[in-house]
Amino acid sequence: MQLLASELLPQPESTEAIFQRVYSAVARTGEAPPVRLHVRPYVATIGRLRLAQGVLELRLSEAMAAAPATVREALAWILVSRLFRSAPPAHWVRHYRQYMNRKDVRRVHQAVRAARSRKHISGPQGVVYDLAEIFRSLRDRYFGPLLPEPQLGWSRRPSRTLLGHFDHVHNAIVLSSWLDRPEVPRFVVEYVMYHEMLHMKHPVEHRRHRRSIHPPAFREEEKRFERLAEARSWLKTAR
Ligand SMILES: [Zn+2]
Repeated sequence: MQLLASELLPQPESTEAIFQRVYSAVARTGEAPPVRLHVRPYVATIGRLRLAQGVLELRLSEAMAAAPATVREALAWILVSRLFRSAPPAHWVRHYRQYMNRKDVRRVHQAVRAARSRKHISGPQGVVYDLAEIFRSLRDRYFGPLLPEPQLGWSRRPSRTLLGHFDHVHNAIVLSSWLDRPEVPRFVVEYVMYHEMLHMKHPVEHRRHRRSIHPPAFREEEKRFERLAEARSWLKTAR
């Protein structure tokens, strides 16, 4: 049997152990629930901690999981305090902020945030249909060259009920991957895309407390789509 010198050195405290220790301190109990750590490439900077079925489920980004032990401890104080709805100790908040304000750290987390906001957008090329090509042909036919091209993608799960949506935060049109099948005629995919392009053109109006998602001008313009009735009736009967 080999004995490695490193085995004789005191082992640094693991993230799980840090969170358990901090939990005991905040809860003022001797025992803390077990911690299950999930490291994912795209998690919000601050991470997520919740208690589910007696286990502390901790989600951290790769960048945060690799941060120095004192920073992970500061994060533990912040997240555990939040769990107990109590204020985290000020010096740990300061320590966390100081670290997050470092230029190199900021750069890493900004890159993660950017990737995170892109993560659901698959890209326009489906198995059957290319959304970029469909977008451009509809733009030429109905909108003119001034309509900017958003991010385009297919939903991860095929949905029969949510056929498409325009996400104005990420400036993205996402179509249900249920439409990316050879049985679905092109004019049906075009109709769903056309509808979402109209949402780009007609931003949601807020009238008092009601949101008017399809204002009259929207409905009027939707009628310009050549095969509107045909597309709608196909969608009504399709399965
Ligand atoms: Zn709509």
